[in-house]
Amino acid sequence: MVRARGVRKHFGHLEVLKGIDLEVRQGEVVVVLGPSGSGKSTFLRCVNHLETIDGGSIHVDGELIGFEASGGRVRHLRKREITRQRREIGMVFQQFNLFPHFTVVQNVIEAPVGVRGEPRDQARERAHALLRRVGLEDKAAAYPRQLSGGQQQRVAIARALAMRPKLMLFDEPTSALDPELVGEVLAVMKGLAEDGLTMIVVTHEIGFAREVADRVVFMDDGVVVESGTPADVLDRPASPRTKAFLSRVL
Ligand code: ADP
Ligand code: MG
Repeated sequence: MVRARGVRKHFGHLEVLKGIDLEVRQGEVVVVLGPSGSGKSTFLRCVNHLETIDGGSIHVDGELIGFEASGGRVRHLRKREITRQRREIGMVFQQFNLFPHFTVVQNVIEAPVGVRGEPRDQARERAHALLRRVGLEDKAAAYPRQLSGGQQQRVAIARALAMRPKLMLFDEPTSALDPELVGEVLAVMKGLAEDGLTMIVVTHEIGFAREVADRVVFMDDGVVVESGTPADVLDRPASPRTKAFLSRVL
């Protein structure tokens, strides 16, 4: 579903991604761990066209996102292609970014109706099913400010799912939540994983990584330091950098 090869990215003089190699198979859940500033968000943003890459290549579902042509020049797709591809990739951020003046159900149907032209009634029906899936069918008419952070994040997940993404990217989805609200969001994500959704999850929730991830990737300083089963990376890390990071978060 995702094939990243030698992905490089810099901001000015700062080299943030120094050759990221990462593959994610269909239906796989990959948890990305790593210290703050290691390039995790930038990498996810490159996969979703929120940043352009400076080198290497990224494919999603066999389709090119950006790539380095011979001669070292990176080519990017046309705007229309980018728009089409972005619709098929869902992203959930640390900040939920719901529309405050829309109800929950309006937030969920906004993209399917506005972007994809889905009939409103059909979108509304699907939205209710999605809200049931994230445990919020009784909140359809509420406004975001009336919800807890955990509930808002579950709406954000339902909203992303409403576009029927083939890939979901989660960037620290529970980092902004009070500790007692983290579990309900992780439980929804676990359900999606069990349903076979392909997911890349950046998180510091080691318990989630251990329980749900097919593979854990440890990133540091713009490179993938190691990658393997949760048991391999979490219990028997090969790199001293992974060991040092885990001793800080565990
Ligand atoms: P992580 O998500 O692992 O904490 P990020 O990908 O957010 O790391 O950031 C990696 C590095 O890139 C950091 O040093 C950050 O300050 C820098 N960075 C990220 N986005 C930008 C940007 N738009 N402009 C300049 N520097 C950026
Ligand atoms: Mg980040």
